[in-house]
Amino acid sequence: MDFEDTREEAEFRAECRAWLEANASERAPGSEVGMSARDNETVERAQAWQAKKADAGWACITWPREYGGRGATRIQGSIWNQEEARFETPPNLFLIGQGMLGPTLMAHGTEAQQTRYLEKMLRGEEIWCQLFSEPGAGSDLAALRTRAEQDGDAWVINGQKIWTTGAQYSRWGMIVTRTSPGAVKHKGITYFIVDMHAPGVEVRPIKQINGGSSFNEVFFSDVRVPAENMIGRVNEGWRGAITTLMNERAAIGGGGMGGGVDTLVRLAQQVPIDGRPALEDAGVRQRIARLYIRQRGVQLAGLRSLTALSRGETPGPDLSIGKLVGAPLRQEMAAFALELLGPMGAVDDDAVGDRLWQQAYLGAPGGRIAGGTDEIMRNIISERVLGLPPETRVDKHVAFEDVPTGRKS
Ligand SMILES: Cc1cc2nc3c(=O)[nH]c(=O)nc-3n(C[C@H](O)[C@H](O)[C@H](O)COP(=O)(O)OP(=O)(O)OC[C@H]3O[C@@H](n4cnc5c(N)ncnc54)[C@H](O)[C@@H]3O)c2cc1C
Repeated sequence: MDFEDTREEAEFRAECRAWLEANASERAPGSEVGMSARDNETVERAQAWQAKKADAGWACITWPREYGGRGATRIQGSIWNQEEARFETPPNLFLIGQGMLGPTLMAHGTEAQQTRYLEKMLRGEEIWCQLFSEPGAGSDLAALRTRAEQDGDAWVINGQKIWTTGAQYSRWGMIVTRTSPGAVKHKGITYFIVDMHAPGVEVRPIKQINGGSSFNEVFFSDVRVPAENMIGRVNEGWRGAITTLMNERAAIGGGGMGGGVDTLVRLAQQVPIDGRPALEDAGVRQRIARLYIRQRGVQLAGLRSLTALSRGETPGPDLSIGKLVGAPLRQEMAAFALELLGPMGAVDDDAVGDRLWQQAYLGAPGGRIAGGTDEIMRNIISERVLGLPPETRVDKHVAFEDVPTGRKS
């Protein structure tokens, strides 16, 4: 494992930092990078920052040059992300489009689709959402029931999606639909680009425990989608969906630790136990040390992935391990911080502190679900790393419409 940048990587890092220093302010220690938009003003700030990066050649740097990127290596992409995270920038509302859907269009889209959509996606002019999960299809995505039926030169979509991040401010969505219920479940799925402003699309924000509404329910009632919006071929949408999901793991898999233990130590210096800083309490120090050891483990697993990238190799299961350990760790750290804050920890109000730990605590459970739940990560590790027998999949060879279920549609 390499702990240091190579000479080329250090030069690239300096180039990134120089541009960022000239165009943004450094982030205050302990402040976190948010992901969810709260209002139009946030969306506009995020779009302005994205356009500025695009003008200077710093948007989607790992995209091939033909699509407007720099053709940068994945390690250079990671270096850019690390550096950008050190600066005060608006939330990244483009991750789903640029990190997951754009690469899917590059792999499976037509030239006309690539020309129409990718540049505006890169510049942040059009925001995209991922319409995959349904009330009855999440971990088992191929169980999806939203239907698309052909009608002349268009397809008509009916059904419901859920947990759709950013649907309320997205211009376009990428949706997986059931087109052939008589086929086995992975073989009757078709992938489309859908206009989120089309008649029949209804977006209902979901109120979250942290007070925000970053994701939504989306209902489709007779929504017409032109045939030219199909990604790949009829009933072959699963291939495109897999490309999106692989890119999802890579885009969110590492899950940085944010302020992590350093921020926790600062908090323990500020809050008292029996009239003295909490950090002077031996029990507090022990718990922080335990958290630090686990955080360091996650960071080293992340470095191992970066080393593999740096050598041009594909990272192995480290991303799944990093997520499986990192997400609960963030939750535990936030819970401990609230314990240290005492009664103040129960107050989720701007007037008390900066709400950093309250928000971290309330947002942490989502980190254990999005991009593959803890249990799914364990399944991946057990099957692909440890070589344990695969799960029994009783519906694998059965026509989707014949799979026994509590509901029929
Ligand atoms: C913050 C956040 C953002 C999201 N954004 C989007 C988005 O933009 N677009 C989108 O389409 N979706 C999005 N999702 C949805 C996400 O993809 C799903 O929540 C996830 O795939 C889990 O599916 P589910 O919620 O239906 O749970 P289920 O799959 O129903 O799981 C329920 C429970 O059963 C367990 N379980 C399921 N299958 C197995 C198994 N085979 N073995 C063992 N245990 C199992 C799970 O681990 C979980 O504990 C988002 C979710 C979150 C939290």
